[in-house]
Amino acid sequence: MSTLIPHWRAGARWPGATPEPERYADVHDPATGQVSGRVALASGAEVDAVVADAVAAGREWAETSLSRRTSVLFAFREVLVRRREEVAAAITAEHGKVLDDALGEVQRGLEVAEFACGAPHLLKGGFSEGVSSGVDVYSIRQALGVVAVISPFNFPAMVPLWFVPVAIACGNAVVLKPSEKDPSTSLLLAEIWAEAGLPDGVFNVVQGDKVAVDSLLTHRDVKAVSFVGSTPVARYVYETGTAHGKRVQALGGAKNHMVVLPDADLEAAADAAVSAGFGSAGERCMAISALVCVDPVADRLVPLIAERMAGLVTGDGRRGSDMGPLVTATHRDKVASYVDAGAEAGASVVVDGRGVQPDGAEGGFWLGPTLLDHVETSMSVYTDEIFGPVLSVLRVPSYDAALELVNANPYGNGTAIFTHDGGAARRFQHEVEVGMVGVNVPIPVPMAYYSFGGWKSSLFGDSHAHGTEGIHFFTRGKVVTSRWPTPDLPRPGIDLGFPQHR
Ligand code: NAD
Repeated sequence: MSTLIPHWRAGARWPGATPEPERYADVHDPATGQVSGRVALASGAEVDAVVADAVAAGREWAETSLSRRTSVLFAFREVLVRRREEVAAAITAEHGKVLDDALGEVQRGLEVAEFACGAPHLLKGGFSEGVSSGVDVYSIRQALGVVAVISPFNFPAMVPLWFVPVAIACGNAVVLKPSEKDPSTSLLLAEIWAEAGLPDGVFNVVQGDKVAVDSLLTHRDVKAVSFVGSTPVARYVYETGTAHGKRVQALGGAKNHMVVLPDADLEAAADAAVSAGFGSAGERCMAISALVCVDPVADRLVPLIAERMAGLVTGDGRRGSDMGPLVTATHRDKVASYVDAGAEAGASVVVDGRGVQPDGAEGGFWLGPTLLDHVETSMSVYTDEIFGPVLSVLRVPSYDAALELVNANPYGNGTAIFTHDGGAARRFQHEVEVGMVGVNVPIPVPMAYYSFGGWKSSLFGDSHAHGTEGIHFFTRGKVVTSRWPTPDLPRPGIDLGFPQHR
């Protein structure tokens, strides 16, 4: 019987013993294909019970002094540093990404926790003395109450950490609904919060699927929702959550382009394309999946990339491989079917990952790195988000054609330009309709003190994750105008006119 992966409620695994959950889903080790656990899928009533706890705990937490809240954040950071390898191992065991990459994910999440340690400064309001006779005005930011975080499979630690430390530092209680494909990391994060001294009920986990998501989206006591996942679900979450009066930020899918101009350092561009195309088996929302080569770059760049790909080892992430398996067999088959469709539509398969010989068990969900050349914008391998280790090369005659291609794409998460021409790079950063731009940097994920988010179909809502936008998302502003009577101030008297501070 495989292990049950439960919820986290009132500071402990819930249910603590292991009665059969009414609904559950199998969790796999993608490198072996074996079922490694069964995750509970919450009912609406279970979500209600967790939210009720969070409401009560959140009220007290919001009244807890900022200094005390901050000390828990610092402690969380310390415990996470100490337990980072354990967290990374849990990620690799259920997601499949190689251990180094999993550690990198934890590190990027940790940076948001470090950012959130600055909450006392970040939550400071403004104060204007004497805006009128004896009148002062000041602004404060207050917690929202209970907020929900709904996360995707591809970053089981980093994506929750984009939101949770910031929300908690701001005085909110959080209910996390992780992906049912790799749910165990969420419980480790919960243990780490508990070890850091966070009061029970401030951080909670409900495992589950659409049932749990819908319960959170329609729950009266959930005040805000931070979602990350595919575009159709992001749109649904945004529309449903806002229709129920919630503040929602819903980060969606992506199709990221790397534009290479003829004057670029092609050796560096080839390194970047391989790293950004095949890291985490392409299961990153910032992965490069479309390489836009401005003529005559492709003739030289494609062989350089193929040469590098020949040295990549696909295999079990615990064995020092370069690239792990895909997350599920279904996803692997879907990604492979895009390669089939691309080849049938006339793309040339320069490197074919479909017959890869992995360094791993036979039953793993393997697909090797794949390079397609002469891809056209009408092919499904280009139009759809594939989310796998497939890099498509599109050839264009000029910078203008490259820009037009990138801007015509419905997604706008990340993009990069490779060039030695500062003027062209500056033009690109100004003209491209994408939220995160790299100049000779293939995966321009902003640091925690900036905000992460795309444009167009890559984000619904108007707040990006973490940075100052995160602080604003998880707080409500209030402005106080005050007058304290003093002996030297005349009483204002009756005045039915609109208040004017003169
Ligand atoms: P997904 O949309 O399938 O699932 C995301 C979350 O939504 C999960 O918790 C899942 O349980 C839930 N969910 C799934 N279907 C649902 C439905 N019909 N109704 C309600 N909830 C539902 O995404 P995924 O496959 O887990 O993750 C990969 C996707 O996430 C990719 O599209 C990727 O680009 C995107 N992503 C985007 C970013 C970003 O920052 N923009 C970051 C990471 C991942």
